Amino acid sequence: MVMMRAARLHEVGDTFQVDLVPVPKPRPTDVLVKVMSCGVVPNLHNVVANYPTWFPFLPLPTLPAIFGLDAAGIVEEVGSTVRDIKVGDRVYVNPGLSCGTCEACRRRDNTNCPAYTFQGYFGFGPGSQQIYEDYPYGGFAEFLTAPAANLVKLPESVSFDQGARFGYLGTAYAALRKANFAPGQTILIDGATGTLGLGATLLAIAMGARQIFITGRNAQLLARTKALCQNRIQVVVLGDVASGTVVKHATGGMGVDVVIEALGPNAFPRNVVEAMSGLRRGGKAVSIGGVADPIPVDPFPLMCQQHSLIGSLWFTPAEGQDMAAMADTGILDLSAFVHETYRLDDINEALAAVEKRNGGFTNVVIRPGDR
Ligand SMILES: [Zn+2]
Repeated sequence: MVMMRAARLHEVGDTFQVDLVPVPKPRPTDVLVKVMSCGVVPNLHNVVANYPTWFPFLPLPTLPAIFGLDAAGIVEEVGSTVRDIKVGDRVYVNPGLSCGTCEACRRRDNTNCPAYTFQGYFGFGPGSQQIYEDYPYGGFAEFLTAPAANLVKLPESVSFDQGARFGYLGTAYAALRKANFAPGQTILIDGATGTLGLGATLLAIAMGARQIFITGRNAQLLARTKALCQNRIQVVVLGDVASGTVVKHATGGMGVDVVIEALGPNAFPRNVVEAMSGLRRGGKAVSIGGVADPIPVDPFPLMCQQHSLIGSLWFTPAEGQDMAAMADTGILDLSAFVHETYRLDDINEALAAVEKRNGGFTNVVIRPGDR
């Protein structure tokens, strides 16, 4: 039996350890991918240490398990019914798995499958355990299997380390699409210097935003983010003034078309309400950051102003393919990321490093092939 190295979690709250496990065989509709880079997402520490207590309704795979959410690599082997994906293709593996046969899946609305599951991370329903039995391989291993339908083909111009960032970029892209964001529109990105917010900013630039308001607390990170597109980005420092007031003033009282709410779990709910107050009539706010506390939304002005507050989770392989195309043309500029690469053996150091990252610019990745 051919073996591979994989970093596994044996107990909740424990560190990862590198084990030897068999290299999986792809089933007919699957592919075997040689992992070149896998993102270490900022939330991973919470997932492996706290999710069973905090969110018992979001199941982890049965331990020991291989984690690793955002893998990019090279197709090593394809299943017997896979046609358009070839050995040697460079790919990002969209880890969003669904059951395939429930009503949502049969309507091709896979992200709303009750058993939706993040390969190598956590699931959203009781059906997730069955999916973990079928796909027990995360990206912190030399190889993984995945459904061929989940792959995003990466052009040569997108590095594997950049590909490992597609999860957070895609989350922002799907949110922009749900808001019907269009060229020439205005946008407020609340929490723009973080991992999600920076992705939303890069995509808003790429998608032709006329005016991009970015909020954050760290002046140095805000300046660095503004430098991505000096003439279209305007900085709003959180804590100084209400973001909605600044935005309304800067747009001549109109307000922005879209608010992307990318603040993290520990943010003040007040900030979210203030950001939403910057929406124009009919504007849409999309929540992707997961502020932990309830947000006091007032339904009456929501009705009068026809505001929408939309929740958005992850993205489809098709949306991933859109981003690959945008990156290939250069309109989506991925050069802002600074990659910090780690060997599989140093995964616990990588987890610690992600806590000390320099906002969204730092991209911590594991390269399982590095020795
Ligand atoms: Zn389903």
